Amino acid sequence: YLCTVTAIRGKDRSLSGAILLLRDVTRLKEVERLKSEFVMAASHELRTPLTSLGMSVDLLLEHAVQGLAKKDIDLLQAAHEEVHRMKALVNDLLDLSRIEAGRIDLEFECVPVSILFDHAEAVFKNQTDMKEVSLTSELAGGMPMVRADANKITWVLSNLISNALRYVSKGGHIGLSAYRIGPHVHLSVQDDGPGIPPEYQSKIFQKFVQVKGQETGGTGLGLAICKEIVRAHGGAIWMESSAGQGSTFIFTLPVA
Ligand code: ADP
Repeated sequence: YLCTVTAIRGKDRSLSGAILLLRDVTRLKEVERLKSEFVMAASHELRTPLTSLGMSVDLLLEHAVQGLAKKDIDLLQAAHEEVHRMKALVNDLLDLSRIEAGRIDLEFECVPVSILFDHAEAVFKNQTDMKEVSLTSELAGGMPMVRADANKITWVLSNLISNALRYVSKGGHIGLSAYRIGPHVHLSVQDDGPGIPPEYQSKIFQKFVQVKGQETGGTGLGLAICKEIVRAHGGAIWMESSAGQGSTFIFTLPVA
């Protein structure tokens, strides 16, 4: 049931009653589940033909280049990029629908945040060097371990860092930090890129939402997947940004 409570107040604002509304959302939940199952099955079926299509295009590009006119090579190159984009979209859709349908198996363990940060810094080293971006991390003293599936949380961190990397300018800065508040550790990824306009901020974690004019060829599903993974850990994710002032994405994980 979905429960809504509305307070009824008198003229002097004193509480005179309350309306309690209970909505049976069983059918709604079932429709949501069926939708996720359908998207999951469709994306799964699309993966195999897309993979062979991608391999054929790549083979053609590798072996037939000499005999082809420039415009034909350009066509093949465009096909290669589109297949690559579709594969990314299908994989993201599959991941998201699996999580939404409750088909995510989390392998919880006690993880030191420093390991998560060190791993992320190592993975992105080449890309940050190439763009001359500095990636630094800061851990508050006495940082406890978190209870998390290290692979899934690494995915979340990588997605946030790769977004930040796409938006910061050459020579920019990305900062990772972690600090404890009560029973949770807050992990944040901050960048000095263009930021996210206020009208997008409340919906940026929804599927397929991309800032108009700021798309960089992604699928628009990364943040939605991050949100579901963090939620499955019992945490929350949000962002803070003012246009032109960069963005900070923050998520929480339970202390181990
Ligand atoms: P994708 O990056 O594949 O488009 P995401 O769900 O990861 O999908 O991000 C959704 C949108 O949020 C992006 O298209 C972009 O407009 C905006 N966005 C995400 N991260 C940042 C960032 N660090 N700085 C500016 N805009 C961002």
